[in-house]
Amino acid sequence: MSVVTRFAPSPTGYLHIGGARTALYSWLYARKHGGRFVLRIEDTDRERSTDEAVQAILDGMAWLGLAHDGDITYQTQRFERYAQVTEKLLEAGQAYRCYCTREELDEMREAQRARKEKPRYDGRCRTRTEPREGVEPVIRFVNPTQGDTVIRDVVKGDISVSNSELDDLIIARSDGTPTYNFCVVVDDLDMGITHVIRGDDHVNNTPRQINIFQALINLGLGKTEQSPVYAHVPMILGEDGKRLSKRHGAVGVMSYRDQGYLPEALLNYLVRLGWAHGDQEIFTRDEMIEHFDLANVQGGAATFDTKKLDWVNQEHIKVADAAYLADQLAWHLRKQGVDPEGGPPLTDLVEILRERSKTLVEMAEKSQMFLQPVTNYDAKAMAKFMGDPGPALLQQVRDALASLKEWHDEPIHTVVKQVAQTADVGMGKVAQPLRIAVSGNVVSPSIDQTLRVLGRDESLARIDALLKHLAQ
Ligand code: GLU
Repeated sequence: MSVVTRFAPSPTGYLHIGGARTALYSWLYARKHGGRFVLRIEDTDRERSTDEAVQAILDGMAWLGLAHDGDITYQTQRFERYAQVTEKLLEAGQAYRCYCTREELDEMREAQRARKEKPRYDGRCRTRTEPREGVEPVIRFVNPTQGDTVIRDVVKGDISVSNSELDDLIIARSDGTPTYNFCVVVDDLDMGITHVIRGDDHVNNTPRQINIFQALINLGLGKTEQSPVYAHVPMILGEDGKRLSKRHGAVGVMSYRDQGYLPEALLNYLVRLGWAHGDQEIFTRDEMIEHFDLANVQGGAATFDTKKLDWVNQEHIKVADAAYLADQLAWHLRKQGVDPEGGPPLTDLVEILRERSKTLVEMAEKSQMFLQPVTNYDAKAMAKFMGDPGPALLQQVRDALASLKEWHDEPIHTVVKQVAQTADVGMGKVAQPLRIAVSGNVVSPSIDQTLRVLGRDESLARIDALLKHLAQ
């Protein structure tokens, strides 16, 4: 049987980190097995679902490159199907109309509490044959009363729940709308889902879902003979040990784009958060697909670690294709209000900055000096390096640079070294004034790379500008 996995977000907010990891695991599993990965939008909660949230989920998936197969399924477009299945269950005696009033239910629960029992619906309408005047009934599923339901969970192992713990779930409300757990099962069945990979906050729903699944299969309503394999993936915790939430700044995956993470780095980080392949840390997309296996997903909660994400990001930045990084860099530069055009080729900036940037935001910040004129000289740097003999050294190195035949790292380096040697000072005494001239401060990549990428004309112009400034 060919693998079909799904990602089934409720569109009530951003695509958050936990959701992205669930989507990733589902996507990987399908890709690894040559199966299908489908997307279902669980939008039946109309109060909380919004079109913006659907769009945010689609944007997040697109940015991460987690392409789904086939059309998107929207639960709100399937009400007819849910009603049809409910009708089938009613006909088969697998569901019944429940006419209990709120007062009656409250009374029942009170009495159960008084007897120190777990409050649950006692199934009293199962045998009712007559409607009740003035009460719009709900429809309940006839849950088995005997035996156990076993979740065969690939991550957590077998989880057994006694059916006596589960009461008859409402599958349709009195206004006819279907309820959440019921829709999930009908969808998983109709979509031929073979593996349900989702957050372990859904473990409690699973025994009920399995029972409904079984009833539908018994009625011949599905293409499959068995309920899906389940893999409940543990929660992601913040560094304070609490469940990851907005408080930790983990709003949505797109905010990671804005913070300068590469999508493949975020995926790499997420895949390792709760899954391991030996001690390998860095994975390309293809390596993830090759090695991913649900059997190696860990059962314990994982902790989100921004430092590690930074490290993974930099490892990807170090080896990513320069043209690809240049595109991303341009995006970040524009976001920082800097025109990426008109300066050195961005691929050159990528090349000299990739070893020293943890994020693309950092790379863009470090790129700014190459794309914008120097408007201000740092006072501290000036005080430290531009007293005597700073200006004289700067003039000497300027002249030597101007006569260079080839504008490459090596000759530039040699010139700086020779000027320092002739003046009998350390190289820094020459390099720092140069840095101040070209950047306004003393932080830049190595001076030979900096000048080479900036170009001869622009470098000399900036040096002249500082010399002029000093002469004033
Ligand atoms: N819609 C659910 C959620 O966003 C997921 C349900 C499922 O995967 O079965 O948490």
